[in-house]
Amino acid sequence: MRKKFFSRFPDGSSRNWQDWRWQLRRRATSLPALTRILETPPRGGKPLERLISRYPMAVTPYYLSLLNPDDENDPLSVQCVPDFRELSFSAGLTDDPLGEDLSMPVPNLIQRYPDRVLAIVTHRCATYCRHCNRKRFWRVPEAGSLKSRLAPMVRFVSETPRVREVILSGGDPLMFDDASLEMILSSFASIPHVEVLRIGSRAPVVLPMRITGNLCRILKRHRPLWFNTQFNHPAEITPDAARACNRIQEAGIPVSNQSVLLQGVNDSPEVMQSLLNGLQKISVRPYYLFHCEPARGCGHFRTDIRKGLKLMEKLRQRCSGLALPQYVADLPGQEGKVPLWPLSRPIQNALRKHQDFFDNFEELD
Ligand SMILES: *Cc1c(COP(=O)(O)O)cnc(C)c1O
Ligand code: SF4
Repeated sequence: MRKKFFSRFPDGSSRNWQDWRWQLRRRATSLPALTRILETPPRGGKPLERLISRYPMAVTPYYLSLLNPDDENDPLSVQCVPDFRELSFSAGLTDDPLGEDLSMPVPNLIQRYPDRVLAIVTHRCATYCRHCNRKRFWRVPEAGSLKSRLAPMVRFVSETPRVREVILSGGDPLMFDDASLEMILSSFASIPHVEVLRIGSRAPVVLPMRITGNLCRILKRHRPLWFNTQFNHPAEITPDAARACNRIQEAGIPVSNQSVLLQGVNDSPEVMQSLLNGLQKISVRPYYLFHCEPARGCGHFRTDIRKGLKLMEKLRQRCSGLALPQYVADLPGQEGKVPLWPLSRPIQNALRKHQDFFDNFEELD
């Protein structure tokens, strides 16, 4: 944290700073708040207000303290400060690029593989990532209580013996308090054929104080549990974030990382190498590097697929095999996550069916 950053908040103190609920209460959700806290106005001004009414903004004080407002290309600001390009129309971009809404046997439960399902347990996040491929959900209110939303999902999984893994996602499942999270985990864990649970959460990166001793005790009881998070830039690997990951690991839970390849954030070999090495140093396993999907509101983050392939070729030479993620494109529907590198014939054929996913794909031949 930059020195005494907490003093920029009315009830800021070093004690409150460590309280995840305080961090959520004091998030910057409007431009005036952002300007006041960062002591400098973000680019864009007025048009951004309209943008926020469509794609809300929220940034935790913790994540704000990592931004460099003097650098207009700051890779952390780019991930959380609204940008007018989110509203620009671009052919080929859709609200639901993976066709998730069509793969829901019951509301909020996505099944794209026979053996594992993904539960959207909430639409809320601690910090809204501007590159989020589920940003269509941000404005949608959650209908009914957690219990009433959960019941049909749990019933579906109980009645579907082929499902052996349940992924809690969102939104960010760690937005719930410990008791609710315990309830969600045990509802799925008590189904006899569910062998493995997984949590996808960006809390270690944007709200590391959420990883409390009590939370880790709950997680520990539900092993085998796998924890996937999302570091996209080496500057996010702070001592606080490292400690959060370490606590989860000490509970016997492996922590893996899913990055998104983002223009201007991590699309250079130097930055990506430093990110991967940094993750290896904190024992977090790089799992996936996602090619940025054609989601509406995210067009300006997308890179050329050839750039991604060249990047992987460089990383192969420069990084430990333990630090090398799979570079994948998530394709709509049942196709699922397709490894892009090394590029094989069958993969090329699969990709050809989805040319609209990539710019300049023809030139790959
Ligand atoms: C990504 C995803 C999974 C998990 O895929 P893995 O390759 O096992 O990490 C499962 N279900 C859905 C709907 C997904 O999007
Ligand atoms: S934490 Fe995940 S779901 Fe939430 S905004 Fe970021 S990418 Fe989207």
